[in-house]
Amino acid sequence: MSELRFDDRVAVITGAGRGLGREYALLLAARGARIVVNDPGGPMRGDGIDVGPAEEVVREIRAAGGTAVACTESVATPEGGQAIIQAALDHFGRIDILIHNAGNVRYGSMKDLSQEDFDAVIDVHLRGAFHVVRPAFPIMCKAGYGRIILTSSIGGLYGNANVVNYGMSKAGMIGLNNVVAIEGAAEGVKCNIIVPGAVTRMADGIDVSAYPPMGADLVSPVVGWLAHESCSLTGEMLVSIAGRVARAFIGESRGVYQKDWTIEQVGERIDAICDPADPLIFGLDGHVDHIRYSFERALSGR
Ligand code: NAD
Repeated sequence: MSELRFDDRVAVITGAGRGLGREYALLLAARGARIVVNDPGGPMRGDGIDVGPAEEVVREIRAAGGTAVACTESVATPEGGQAIIQAALDHFGRIDILIHNAGNVRYGSMKDLSQEDFDAVIDVHLRGAFHVVRPAFPIMCKAGYGRIILTSSIGGLYGNANVVNYGMSKAGMIGLNNVVAIEGAAEGVKCNIIVPGAVTRMADGIDVSAYPPMGADLVSPVVGWLAHESCSLTGEMLVSIAGRVARAFIGESRGVYQKDWTIEQVGERIDAICDPADPLIFGLDGHVDHIRYSFERALSGR
């Protein structure tokens, strides 16, 4: 197979000054993409500014013969998001790829997480996604081409203690992904989610000694393919952790159909209702009419 390249493509990568985003930037740049390396730097809580990380990645890309510019705006505000996308237009005249990867972390249990720490994480991960997708999407539609990659997490799919702000944000990516995939389908714009796992500074304090190697370089080829013209998926989620790549999806049990129900009957039939055998999975087959399709499946017993 010939090398998949990104010549003439322009990619905006948020949070690209470190960790996973840096790895995506280096890979895409090495394959010919021109990159906006977005990162305001700063500590893991996401406050404070340090222009160092974004500029260092730009230096690395240029030293390897690639093309990149740094942008230290924050994704946490609509103005910041607009400025990040504008940087691609100002420097390179176009935007083909948007990878929303920026992330901060603030811990606190449901009993004591502060409103400030809740908002700070929602603003970067969840609102931040909207802040960059919103200005990029119409430009991509006008060009008839775009690839958008959002970042979720195992904590978003299945939950984790002490990070309700993070879990809600990462689950919220699924809603954005679905809508952008549906609205972008006729416009040449594809949107997918990466569910990564890698030892970066986000793993600080977590014991990873029992795990296989978890380099960010194991995730970047998956994101690279999702960002490429040849990507055949949209509205999907790919998990990439420690070398294992898989599809994550939302499924429904086949369900039980009755013309009417009582509370007692729900209790009596709860095992059949929850039976995961032969599940319904929406997505890859196209976004079919959910109600009609699932109703027919329940009636037909398939
Ligand atoms: P990281 O801390 O190394 O990198 C995140 C980058 O985002 C940092 O450089 C940070 O400065 C930047 N950032 C923070 N606030 C920003 C803002 N307002 N605007 C723009 N950039 C901002 O962490 P990472 O592990 O590389 O994480 C990258 C993404 O992957 C995050 O969205 C994270 O939630 C997600 N993720 C990571 C893992 C993992 O195992 N590392 C697992 C699941 C999800």
